[in-house]
Amino acid sequence: MQRRTFLLASAAAAATTSLLSMTNPSAAAPLEVPLLAPWKGPHGGAPSFAKVKVTDFKPALLEGIERNRTEIAKIAGNKAPPSFENTIAALEDAGRPLDRVSAIFNVYTSTMNDKEMQAVEKEMSSILAAFNDEVIQNAALFARVKAVYLTREAAELSPEQQRLVWVVYRRFARQGAALGDADKVRLADINKQLSVLYTAFSQNELGDEEDHWLTLEDAELDGLPDWLRASAAAAAEDKKLKGKFLFANTRSAIEPFLTYSICRDLREKAFRMWTSRGDNGDAHDNNVAITEILQLRAEKAKLLGYPTFAHWITDYQMAKTPDAVMNLLLKVWAPFTARVREEVADMQKIADAEGAGIRIAPWDYRFYAEKVRKAKYDLDESEMKPYLQLEKIREGMFWAAGQLYGLEFAQVHDLPVVHKDVRVFDVHRADKHIGLWYFDPYARAGKQSGAWMDGYRDQERFRGGITPIVSNNTNFVPGKPGEPILISWDDASTMFHEFGHALHGLNSNVIYPTLSGTGVVRDFVEFPSQLNEHWLPTKEVLSRFALHYKTGKPMPDALVTKIKKTHTFNQGFITVEYLACAIVDMKAHLAGATKIDPRAFETATLAEIGMPEEIVMRHRLPHFGHIFSGEGYAAGYYDYIWADTLVADAAEAFEEAPGGFYDKPLAKKLYDCIISRGNTVDAGEAYRKFRDRDATVDALMRDRGFPAPPKA
Ligand SMILES: [Zn+2]
Repeated sequence: MQRRTFLLASAAAAATTSLLSMTNPSAAAPLEVPLLAPWKGPHGGAPSFAKVKVTDFKPALLEGIERNRTEIAKIAGNKAPPSFENTIAALEDAGRPLDRVSAIFNVYTSTMNDKEMQAVEKEMSSILAAFNDEVIQNAALFARVKAVYLTREAAELSPEQQRLVWVVYRRFARQGAALGDADKVRLADINKQLSVLYTAFSQNELGDEEDHWLTLEDAELDGLPDWLRASAAAAAEDKKLKGKFLFANTRSAIEPFLTYSICRDLREKAFRMWTSRGDNGDAHDNNVAITEILQLRAEKAKLLGYPTFAHWITDYQMAKTPDAVMNLLLKVWAPFTARVREEVADMQKIADAEGAGIRIAPWDYRFYAEKVRKAKYDLDESEMKPYLQLEKIREGMFWAAGQLYGLEFAQVHDLPVVHKDVRVFDVHRADKHIGLWYFDPYARAGKQSGAWMDGYRDQERFRGGITPIVSNNTNFVPGKPGEPILISWDDASTMFHEFGHALHGLNSNVIYPTLSGTGVVRDFVEFPSQLNEHWLPTKEVLSRFALHYKTGKPMPDALVTKIKKTHTFNQGFITVEYLACAIVDMKAHLAGATKIDPRAFETATLAEIGMPEEIVMRHRLPHFGHIFSGEGYAAGYYDYIWADTLVADAAEAFEEAPGGFYDKPLAKKLYDCIISRGNTVDAGEAYRKFRDRDATVDALMRDRGFPAPPKA
């Protein structure tokens, strides 16, 4: 998931806050507000986290808006005829102080969101939304943008400039710049209401994760591995429950509990707590908010001239139409639900053989899947874990990025950080400073769960050049001092994923900030991240960095082989729990003005598509932050599988290359065609350049264990 939104990793937010980053102040602005000041210091300058007081955000954001407003007025009121330079380029250079304070504000709302910060976020989100509309709806400004757009062919612009004009014009037009006055007022009102609802939704989700937990006694821990007991004991101690064991209501605590606990009733209890986040009929209940959000989005889409919100979203993406999305989703749905039935049969067989006397239920899936893995592949999670040390995996990511892109990473200690857990790495290529990578690894109160990438500053070569600053955020439980933190295979994969987003930002080599790095269309944004996951299972990484935490010995070949063999294991579950979310997301946003009761809608839609009863959605609607905490992945949760069809196809290119995943010419082609290009080229075209053809769904099916169709 990606940037300036919330949870997953990074690029999606670019789409939602793009306007804020498009608008930057240039002129000699007074610099007395520290949060607005240029980022100074070594390593190309960095955010001034040391100077942040939560009470400063509101005045700084308001001042940033005011300065931006002055700049916009100047651009819009220019007496000279509209040109690329005095309109589009001027917009690129406007809003920089506001960008700076917004970047730090986003770090606080996503990782330091205590009660005080939540109040500021609540107040400021609608003010920021209103300012965004003010810029979009500025008729004089849009007239100039449109004039440049209409004359772009004759204006002797470079291809990147032409692209920028198109992107900026589309952004204004699709957000309603051309609407009549009454519609503009209504649209701004809708956006303001939505911003309030988005903030409430994510704060409720966080609230339910922090206010509920499971407290257990020693005798209730049967089946749990030592590392899980230890982290539960530490979590209990944090809450002054010495001698007890606490499982927080977060994915990183509940999923392992469901995998290992032999107490079926406790598994059910944990499962129900976890899957009813935002759905408890209390102060954190999100159901009413969902209905309102969907109604407002439907009305917004109509105002903007689209049949539904899903049409409005997809029109701007690679997919172009909801039909194209649904075609893909339904094409893969049938084979994967069939695969689930096979998986359940395997699990039921084991349960029967044990005389468990049960029918596999959703809270049994992970537990029995683990048993099947052991029986079928002689592999269990705790066999891999001793080889997966968090810091070694990080070094492995660095190493692979060095092989692919020539990047080197060196930790620096002379830059301020938002919290003592955060580390900063200077990134360079040969002697050239490339950017900064911030790493915020551990869970803490006020930090969103999950893992994501956040872009603090986009790369640009415009106006002298600026290097990118990106961060990766995860929620590992901190270990005891000096003890390595052991993570799961999935977590290691997530590390590579988020780092893939970071590399997309760091490798960016474009002129204009709007077109930089991860600012691509959002169904393409997961391509670099998901592709980067493919370097973890390479022998080159595992033999160097999957080292046993006690002996320092690399993971044995036999274990590596077993891991590779299990690559397609449990793909029915993984794919279906995801696909169900993507389909429900699309259908909810295709429903138009129909008033939706989230619980009933979810149940009916899942029944209609034949959801296996042993699985629930990975994110049920009441805590589906991707689509309701903002517009980042709304009608866009399909992005992951859309990108994955490209990823599987691109991975086959590496498999077939003479140098495999470390093939230098192919890595260079990837860099030249995609990773360094940001949004300067159309995503489909960029991919075609890389692969010399389009992708089909075939490679994805092969990757996930379906033999047909064979390679052409
Ligand atoms: Zn991602």
